[in-house]
Amino acid sequence: MSFKDLGLSDPILKTLKRLDYLTPTEIQTKTIPLILSGKNILASAKTGSGKTAGFVLPILEKLRSLKSPKNKNANALIVTPTRELTAQIQQNVLNYGRNMSITSASVYGGVKIFPQKNKLKNGVGILVATPGRLLDLMNQKAIFLSSVEILVLDEADLMLDMGFLNDIKKILRQLPQRRQNLMFSATFSTEIRSLAKNLNNNLIEVMTASSNSTVESVAQKIYAVDKENKSKLLCYLINEYRWSQVLVFSRTKHGTEKIAKQLNKFGIEAITIHGNKSQNARTRALKDFKSLKAQVLVATDVAARGIDVNDLPYVVNYDLPAIPNDYVHRIGRTGRAGKEGNAISFFSADDGRHLKGINQLTKLSLRPEVLEGFEPSFDLNKPIKTSRSPNKGKKKSKRYFGKARRR
Ligand code: ADP
Ligand code: MG
Repeated sequence: MSFKDLGLSDPILKTLKRLDYLTPTEIQTKTIPLILSGKNILASAKTGSGKTAGFVLPILEKLRSLKSPKNKNANALIVTPTRELTAQIQQNVLNYGRNMSITSASVYGGVKIFPQKNKLKNGVGILVATPGRLLDLMNQKAIFLSSVEILVLDEADLMLDMGFLNDIKKILRQLPQRRQNLMFSATFSTEIRSLAKNLNNNLIEVMTASSNSTVESVAQKIYAVDKENKSKLLCYLINEYRWSQVLVFSRTKHGTEKIAKQLNKFGIEAITIHGNKSQNARTRALKDFKSLKAQVLVATDVAARGIDVNDLPYVVNYDLPAIPNDYVHRIGRTGRAGKEGNAISFFSADDGRHLKGINQLTKLSLRPEVLEGFEPSFDLNKPIKTSRSPNKGKKKSKRYFGKARRR
């Protein structure tokens, strides 16, 4: 199957050739013809499988035959959860549409609103927005959604996780009834399906290989290590194996700063990205990391979701995530579009239940290994108490890797 077979035309095909996109990915093969024929879809595929082009390409194709946008209006609206994603998707729109005369803009919070109002004055073909800033602009009458013909909710699961449900509902109320709805999510859940119902009753569900599975091209390793030795182990791995570009995940904002400080102390250039940083600082950090000015980027889950760094070779889970889904999202930052990637996780004394959750979700059986010089003081084979409160502590203890219990 080629991009041409999917129904895309010359200007886009030329650009795809120049970008070295030789064949469409599985999700693209499925979504592009459906979107071109005007269907409403709810699509889920692994992260890194090319969902963005899966909706941006057919939207560009469709906008070629739509009339130009009205003032303070947009023909297509793409809503995404984070500022970084918004900027990144507009960059994709610009890349994929560079042979075409379709206008676009991105709007998100944390930066001045006035320049964004200006960009919207004459209307845009494609508007990419975070929910909060979009609502601000709507309230200030800088944008009206009355002529939107195509709506995309990207990373819909993350939008729900981040508490945007009410904002999304407010946005939906301002959209015209007659429109095409496209919803993308790395994972499907009951909440996602019920949000989808809000959009339209005739959504076609598009799924590719199990949406909760991890990317096959990512080699996954887990090292057992005492908490206080984690930063030493990270430095050792980075130096010993000459890791050129590493995305490190920490559970907390405070944690990201602490890890970066320790790496810097060891002479490794590390920067952070998390919700407490100004938007400018976040943008700069991402740019420095992408351009390899900084070797290590330490991030929280929300700040890093959806971020696409070309050929990112290493992801480290400094802390195992408490939510198993986050593991899938984190390691999906590497091994993108079939390239090889490595995910390394640190496992400490109280991570038993976290690993168990991950193994259950991904249907993998990941086990911690011990590295010479970093032997942990806890016993990997001994059952442990997994609860934290003294009351619950009286319950039976569980094994790390025992059989999954039914709940
Ligand atoms: P997702 O949204 O599914 O997590 P992205 O849309 O961010 O994934 O795409 C992941 C990477 O794959 C990007 O770097 C993108 O440029 C690349 N990519 C997408 N489609 C193709 C394709 N058909 N051929 C080659 N690379 C592709
Ligand atoms: Mg995406």
